[in-house]
Amino acid sequence: MSFESVNDILGVLEKQAKWQEQPFQRLLQIWPEVVGVAVGAHTRPLSIQRDVLRVATSSAAWAQNLTFKRQTLIVKLNEKLPTSLVDIRFSTAGWQSSPEEKKSQPTVLPSEHPSYVGDLSTSKSVLIPNTMNPKAAFGHWSKVIQERSHSLPLCPQCQSPTPPGELQRWDVCSFCAAKQL
Ligand SMILES: [Zn+2]
Repeated sequence: MSFESVNDILGVLEKQAKWQEQPFQRLLQIWPEVVGVAVGAHTRPLSIQRDVLRVATSSAAWAQNLTFKRQTLIVKLNEKLPTSLVDIRFSTAGWQSSPEEKKSQPTVLPSEHPSYVGDLSTSKSVLIPNTMNPKAAFGHWSKVIQERSHSLPLCPQCQSPTPPGELQRWDVCSFCAAKQL
């Protein structure tokens, strides 16, 4: 095979490749002028596959509106395209190139766990400002604990405020439950 004939083949292949990508490249150029600037801002052509054009829209409402007008659009586009489109599919899919990952919610807070031992762990988690003197800090702490305890049911055995989860599990608070073991 001569050098020239290889060049010829490459030339043909190049032309074929160009011809194959051309409709979509051409479509990207003519899209804004066919649909208008306003629609163009809310749409993004994605691909042409088997003469079906896929277009991403910024919202479902745009997809619906444009789907009604697609026959008119197909006629206008086919006048300017090297291939004939048979249909246009509008969808919000693919509008956002990198869809935001759903941020995972924290599963269960320690205080929401049924085996949460209220009186012991709350004493550690009560925030006491550093500026408080020890007496004020203790007053603050007991006030917070008291406020929290008010909403808690009482253990039937020792009458101390008990997280509902402990009563559900043992019928008594965790301390009484431990004593029974
Ligand atoms: Zn108890």
